[in-house]
Amino acid sequence: MDTKRKLIILADAAKYDASCASSGTSKRNSVGGTGVGSTEGAGICHSYAPDGRCISLLKILLTNWCIYDCLYCVNRESSNVDRARFTVDEVVRLTLDFYRRNVIEGLFLSSGIIRTPDYTMEQVIEVARSLREDHDFRGYIHLKTIPDASDELVLKAGRYADRLSVNIELPTAEALQALAPEKESGAIKRSMARIKLQQDDYADGRRSKARSMAAAGPKIVKPPKFAPAGQSTQMIVGADASDDRQILQTSSTLYGAYGLKRVYYSAFSPIPDASARLPLRAAPLMREHRLYQADWLMRFYGFAEDEICTDGGMLSLDVDPKLAWALANPAQFPVDLNRAPKDRLLRVPGLGIRSVDRIVSARRLRSVRRDDLDRLRVPLGKVLPFVVLPDHRPAGADHTALVTRIAHKAKANQRAENDSLQGDLFAGIAVP
Ligand code: SF4
Repeated sequence: MDTKRKLIILADAAKYDASCASSGTSKRNSVGGTGVGSTEGAGICHSYAPDGRCISLLKILLTNWCIYDCLYCVNRESSNVDRARFTVDEVVRLTLDFYRRNVIEGLFLSSGIIRTPDYTMEQVIEVARSLREDHDFRGYIHLKTIPDASDELVLKAGRYADRLSVNIELPTAEALQALAPEKESGAIKRSMARIKLQQDDYADGRRSKARSMAAAGPKIVKPPKFAPAGQSTQMIVGADASDDRQILQTSSTLYGAYGLKRVYYSAFSPIPDASARLPLRAAPLMREHRLYQADWLMRFYGFAEDEICTDGGMLSLDVDPKLAWALANPAQFPVDLNRAPKDRLLRVPGLGIRSVDRIVSARRLRSVRRDDLDRLRVPLGKVLPFVVLPDHRPAGADHTALVTRIAHKAKANQRAENDSLQGDLFAGIAVP
């Protein structure tokens, strides 16, 4: 099989991994024209660095052969898909070729499990080692870590990779046991803990190096770097019966216990010849979107996971979680924008971190008024029903307008949901 065919199969097989976030950018290439680079082509996806930079990655599997049989996975042993396997050299060459042509800035490499977890991990690491040591590759490398791989291999992987990730797969150990019996929740968490320990050691090493330099001059050996972009994970949403509260509790534990940079949510979508234990329908993409919003609220807005799910353990699909929380907690409002502490401003629907910082700065000089909010470009229709200003007090009319808008949106969502259900029901039926 030629490399191009392998690339088509193994890039397609990697698309289910959301932990390298893609975004819908416009399609461009430089074929037959001017410029260098492309946003198209098999296996190229876009990820975002913490500082907001967009990074194009070659996103592939080393192989989609796998000795495991996770029911939700299109690459499981019993799946009837085309299989392929890259050699280490092929991945190295592809990465360098794309990189030199300015198509990518880095590599996202995962793999099905071949022979043993250690053997697979060695192959994945060898790609990264060769890129870094043989070719002095300075681009971004994200390696998927195999949970049962040995400590030494995880350590080695972190020396070459910018980011490591281990997929938690499902929100609970019970769901994992039911849908991926060869995987063990404990092993996945042990892997995350090992990565965290290494990162802590590295951070301690840097701190003690800084102290030693201050005391004894600059001749100190640098501690080896370990996955400087941290670790992330991915959770499948809607393949089991876990509700959003359970999902967010798991995320909160992972952030707290293992210092994860990101938890990625991936809405379950049915796969060919799927087990009867899996749902027939895809989880709504809006559910995935709401989970990302709620995750953001937990990490940056001071919300606890158990207060966000206002709809009997689920996030509302019709309104964003912050607005849903505000509507469910009328006693918390209105908030006086000129007097309330910052943590209360952060809970006002429509106010983001930047707007809150600007309001806090502005009110040191003088009272913030309605016109100021206009200048800050905050969505007035969303904010005004929840705040008090010297020239504004929320009236019933603001609230009614907001609730009417939400009701319209809910109806539109319901229509879209019904259309998609009809699509599912008729999928696969030949129309004469
Ligand atoms: S181990 Fe990974 S590739 Fe293999 S079946 Fe499970 S999820 Fe799929």
